[in-house]
Amino acid sequence: MIKSGLKIGIVLTLILVLPSLFFSAYEISNLSKNEAVIDSIYTGQLESVLFSLNQYSDDVLSGWANQLERETDDIETIITKNYSIDAIGIKGVSGLELFAKKKIPDDSINSLINQLEIDFASNLKKIELLRRYVNNGYRKIEALSNSFPHKSLFAFAAKQDSVQVSTVLLLLDTDKFIRENLGPKIQMVAQDRFYISVYKENGSLEVFANINQGVEDKNIKQKKAIWLLPGYELGIQMRGNTIEDLVRERTRTNIILLIVMDIILLLGAWFVFKNIRKQIKLNQLKTEFISNVSHEIRTPLALINMYSETLEMGRIPSEEKKKEYYKVINIEANRLSKMVNKILNFSRIERGKREYHFSICNLNNEIETILENYKQHFDQNGFEIELKLADKMPELNLDKEAVAEAIINLIDNGMKYSADVKKLAIGSSIESAYVRIQVKDFGIGIEKKDQPFVFDKFYRVTSGNLAHKAKGSGIGLSIVKHIMEAHNGKVELDSIMGKGSCFTLFFPLK
Ligand code: ADP
Repeated sequence: MIKSGLKIGIVLTLILVLPSLFFSAYEISNLSKNEAVIDSIYTGQLESVLFSLNQYSDDVLSGWANQLERETDDIETIITKNYSIDAIGIKGVSGLELFAKKKIPDDSINSLINQLEIDFASNLKKIELLRRYVNNGYRKIEALSNSFPHKSLFAFAAKQDSVQVSTVLLLLDTDKFIRENLGPKIQMVAQDRFYISVYKENGSLEVFANINQGVEDKNIKQKKAIWLLPGYELGIQMRGNTIEDLVRERTRTNIILLIVMDIILLLGAWFVFKNIRKQIKLNQLKTEFISNVSHEIRTPLALINMYSETLEMGRIPSEEKKKEYYKVINIEANRLSKMVNKILNFSRIERGKREYHFSICNLNNEIETILENYKQHFDQNGFEIELKLADKMPELNLDKEAVAEAIINLIDNGMKYSADVKKLAIGSSIESAYVRIQVKDFGIGIEKKDQPFVFDKFYRVTSGNLAHKAKGSGIGLSIVKHIMEAHNGKVELDSIMGKGSCFTLFFPLK
C-alpha cells in the first residue's frame, strides 16, 4: 500500500508537477529576458525622440546659415526676426564686421567686437578646418568655445567669391534659443505622452520643460547631450507609468499568475494522489472484507452441516439431545441470515437503493423489545444489562426496523469487544434538541487514532489481541451511520482504551 502510494506520488510528480514547475521556471527566467527586450525597445523609442530634437536644433542653425549665405533677408532682418540671435559677425580679410541687436549701445559694440576677435583667435584651428571644408564644398556649423556668459557662439565658413572665404560668427542667447526655437518643437513631439526637459550645468538646472515642474511628479532618467550646445542636456521620460513601472508591473503580474497556477496544480496533484491512495486502501479493505465474510459464514455453515448430518444418521438416542442439536442448527441459521441481511442492507446502501419507511413510534418501547428478544442471548453469554430509560419519551417519526438494526449492531459490537467485564449499560435520555440512545460497554475500547475511521466502510481495528481475533466484516458501524443520517441524526463515539466504549445515537426532536 505504502509502496503503491509512493509509486503514484512519483509518477504524478514526474508527469504532472515536474514539467509544469520546469515550465514555470523557464517562463520566469524568460520573463526577465522579454522584459529586457521591451525595455530596450522603449528606451530606443525615447532615444530616437531625443535624436530628432538634436537634429532639429541643427536644422534651425543650418536654416539661418542658408539665409545668410543666400542673403534672402539682410542680416539686420534676420537678427530682428530671431529673438535669440544677439549678434552676427562676418570675419573677412578686412577685419570683423558686426551686426548686433539694436538695443546694444554703440560703446558696447567695440568691446563686443574685441571679445569676438579674441574668441575667434582662440578657435583658429577649428575655423581653419571649417574653411577647408567649405573649399571642398561642405559647409559645417561648429560651436566655438567662448568667453560670453550664457551665450553660444557658432561659426561656419562662407565663400564670398572663388578665392575669398569669410567666417560667419553667430552669437546666441542659449536659453532664449532653447525656449524660442527648440521649445515649440519639443511641445509638438512630446504632446502629452512624454516629459521633455532641457537642463544645463550638468543637469542641475532646468531651462525648459514641456510640462511645468510641480504639475506632475517627474523622474527623468534618460538624458542626452545637445550636440550643438555644450553643457546642455535633453531629458525624456514617459508620462504616467514609467517604463520601469510598466515592466515591473507586468513581470509581477506574470510571476503571480505562474505561482497561482503552480499552487493550483500542486493542490490538484495532491488531491488526485490522495484520492488514488484512498481507492487503493478501499480496494485492500474490500479484499479483506470478502475474506472476513467468507470466514464468518463458514463457521455456522460447518455447524449446521455437522449437526444436521448427525441427526440424519439417526444416531442420537435421547430426545433431549436431539432438541439441543435442533437448537444449535436454529441459532446458527439465524446467525447466517443476520449476516446475509447485514450484507444485503449494506449493498442496498452502497447502491443508493436502501428505502426507509417512517412511522410514529416510541424509542423506549423499541429498546425494551430488543432487550427482551436478546435476553436469552445475554444470559447465555453471561452479560449483565443495566437499563436506564428517559421518563417521558416523546413519539418520533422513525423507521422502526432500521433503528432496531442500528441498536442491535451496537449491542453486538459491545458484546463482541468486551473481555472480562461482561456488562452493557443501555439508556435513553432527552436533550434540548435530541433524544439520545446510548450503548455503553466496558470492553477493550478503541484507540484515539482509530476512532475517526471506525464508521468508514470495511474499516476494522486489527491491533490488540481481542480486536484481532473477533470476527467481523467492518460494515456494521457504517450501516449505523447511514441509518442515523437518514433520520437527520448522528452517531458519536466516546471511548477509552482498556476501559470501554460508549456509542450515542442522536435523534432530532423536530
Ligand atoms: P465489525 O464487523 O468488524 O465489528 P463494525 O463496523 O461494526 O465492524 O466496527 C468497525 C470496527 O470498530 C471493529 O472492527 C472494531 O475494531 C471497532 N469497534 C466497533 N465497536 C466496538 C466496541 N464496542 N469496542 C471496541 N471496538 C469496537
